[in-house]
Amino acid sequence: MDYDVVVIGGGPGGYVAAIKSAQLGMKVACVEYDEDSNGKQKMGGTCLNVGCIPSKSLLDSSYKFKQISASLPEHGINVSKANYDLSKMMDRKNDIVKKLTSGVSQLLKHNKVESIFGKGKLISKNEIEISDSKGKKKTLKAKYIVLATGSRPIYLDSVPWNGTNIVGSAGALEFSKTPKKLAIIGAGVIGLELGSVWSRLGSEVEIFEAEKTFLPMLDDDISRLIEREFKNQNININLGAMVKSSKNNRSSVTLEIDFAGQVEKRKFDKVIVAVGRKPFSENLLAKGCGLDVDEKGFIEVNNFCQTKLENIYAIGDLVRGPMLAHKAMEEGVMAAERIAGKKMEVNYDLVPSVIYTHPEIAWVGKTEKQLKQENIEFKKGSFPFAASGRALAAGDSVGAVKILADKESDQVLGVQIFGNSASEILQQGLIGMEFSASSEDFGLTMFSHPTVSEALHEAALAVNKQAIHIGN
Ligand code: FAD
Ligand code: NAD
Repeated sequence: MDYDVVVIGGGPGGYVAAIKSAQLGMKVACVEYDEDSNGKQKMGGTCLNVGCIPSKSLLDSSYKFKQISASLPEHGINVSKANYDLSKMMDRKNDIVKKLTSGVSQLLKHNKVESIFGKGKLISKNEIEISDSKGKKKTLKAKYIVLATGSRPIYLDSVPWNGTNIVGSAGALEFSKTPKKLAIIGAGVIGLELGSVWSRLGSEVEIFEAEKTFLPMLDDDISRLIEREFKNQNININLGAMVKSSKNNRSSVTLEIDFAGQVEKRKFDKVIVAVGRKPFSENLLAKGCGLDVDEKGFIEVNNFCQTKLENIYAIGDLVRGPMLAHKAMEEGVMAAERIAGKKMEVNYDLVPSVIYTHPEIAWVGKTEKQLKQENIEFKKGSFPFAASGRALAAGDSVGAVKILADKESDQVLGVQIFGNSASEILQQGLIGMEFSASSEDFGLTMFSHPTVSEALHEAALAVNKQAIHIGN
């Protein structure tokens, strides 16, 4: 064998699996075909190149601009007409991406992982064929293989992207000019995050969502709060809206939209299609290699990310579960540890989710809807940020923390947060939940004052009707 482990894909799942395998003493290679404009191999996958990192860079830049132009006067600070330089904002984003992707290449090198430039294809249980950009092929032999080829955006036949005025999420991170009128198809995570970026920079944003329910993964009381806030931010979310067709008029796009039977035509400068992602498994498995994909393109794995071929693992967006970078990374660590004969598990009940709008939306564990479906009796407590001293001082007091706990044992089963720093507050709840904390445990823990985290403390106290700073 040439290697102990070969990983196909250099995204957060793949590069973490490769580094961890090397740290555990194995001879490892990581195969990645993505390249930059100079033809140099680019590690980091969707997350670093066209996902988590560039989107957060633009979210942070656009939020700073919005704060200066809209929130500072409330603090008594006047800035005469703020403006922005979009190309500088984009350069900053690109620099951050470059720093991080080259950092991953350095980390692989530092851990003695061989980076192989090319497209990998599984041809048998222990063999991978690599094709380079010139079509030259070679075969590698490995004891263990980790498949980590990630995902791709879903294509909509009715709104085919053209890279200019109809784009997917990657194109929407590259606009050279702020669109005046922007349509987004899909009110999911990408729709809300990128809608926020461009709305803050001045676009009139309309989101068209096929489903009638907004953010169905959350409880209705929380999603209602969020919907109201988006309205305040002038992001218009149309639910039950099916885009039937699109006409590209070169400098604009006309969408034909079905609003529950009433069809209307609307014209936009740009359209972002963000209707979900699908596993990237095309051309990954050669006929007869022993593995296959399911009807949606996912590779089937057990709880430990092992495929039906014992020496082959598949992780990240390529397999079941939420398509999130932290989930991919944890699965990368688990695959490496399992290959090394260790017993690591991923706790799939506690995968946190965050939507990085302002305020942020964050949740983990079960919702009321799920607990009712599963016939689990529960009690609940919530605390509005409007009653948090720190949130008020910051002028950032929209939203609430909601905690659900088992009626009898008091163990916390779910946390949903909409508010300032929700992602960071959620992590505190999650650590407690990993240790099976009860709402009383959270209530008995001392929280620094004044912090926005106190809202978690008070929501936990409210579960047992012991909140101090709101009525029980
Ligand atoms: P990927 O990151 O997709 O990496 C797969 C890699 O495999 C790619 O580099 C690809 O080029 C390579 N590859 C594919 N086929 C082959 C082959 N045959 N041979 C060699 N290489 C191959 N998640 C979060 O948790 N937080 C966020 O804030 C967040 N923001 C996002 C924002 C956007 C706009 C998008 C699109 C996604 C975001 N995500 C976020 C999701 C996150 O990017 C993915 O869940 C994560 O990247 C999945 O990691 P992965 O390693 O499974 O796959
Ligand atoms: P999504 O699944 O979050 O949302 C897609 C939305 O599009 C859904 O609400 C769906 O009902 C709607 N939709 C589907 N078909 C439609 C149609 N024909 N017309 C109108 N609406 C339609 O998917 P996404 O926003 O594209 O994000 C893709 C993945 O990337 C997600 O799984 C997400 O986990 C990941 N991601 C994560 C983050 C984060 O963690 N902050 C950020 C961005 C992306």
